[in-house]
Amino acid sequence: MSQLPLVILASRNAKKAAEIQTQLADTGIQIRCMAEFPNAPEVVEDGDSFAANAAKKASQTAKALGHWAIGEDSGICVDALDGAPGIYSARFSGEDATDEKNNALLQEKLSNVPDKKRGAHYVCHVALADPSGEIRATAERTCNGRIIRNARGENGFGYDPYFLIPEYDRTFGELPGVVKKSISHRARAFQQFLPQLVAILKSAGAAGE
Ligand code: IMP
Repeated sequence: MSQLPLVILASRNAKKAAEIQTQLADTGIQIRCMAEFPNAPEVVEDGDSFAANAAKKASQTAKALGHWAIGEDSGICVDALDGAPGIYSARFSGEDATDEKNNALLQEKLSNVPDKKRGAHYVCHVALADPSGEIRATAERTCNGRIIRNARGENGFGYDPYFLIPEYDRTFGELPGVVKKSISHRARAFQQFLPQLVAILKSAGAAGE
């Protein structure tokens, strides 16, 4: 069997990259993380959608490193804030944003919003670029929940301790990683993405690309 080509995971967010790696674990695909390419250029996330940012990360990383690359862009959209912070989730509280500052700002903005109106959803968009930078596959999925007032649990990252999954009455901070791995926006996007990814890489491997 011909070998599958190497794929770069175009994310510098270590916790997110770890979640993506668990999604790819059983595929046999050889994955390299950005930590192994400290000199790779930083991708400026100035797209106007999750799709545009994911494509930009995949395409620029692929071209810069000369390998296939997966770009992922994700965030949280809060109903009471008309979908904000959305694509600005990572830097919601400004240039020196941290998860703590982002969550504090989110709580401040929702302080007068009653429990019933605190619906939100996470979005994950994923894109595959070939070594020339052309986008060859994409997938996007969401995960619905609600923003609670006080943090619960320490699992996950970002907004997870405040993101309640109604079916479980637990936040992603409380739920074990194995549950997030199967029901999150990222899990769902990768469930859709993986068959395309494997098929494309197999045919590229067979063609010696
Ligand atoms: P990105 O790296 O530009 O895609 O930013 C993603 C940001 O969205 C993260 O820094 C988090 O603030 C938020 N986010 C995306 N996915 C998750 C998740 O699974 N849990 C918690 N926060 C998330």
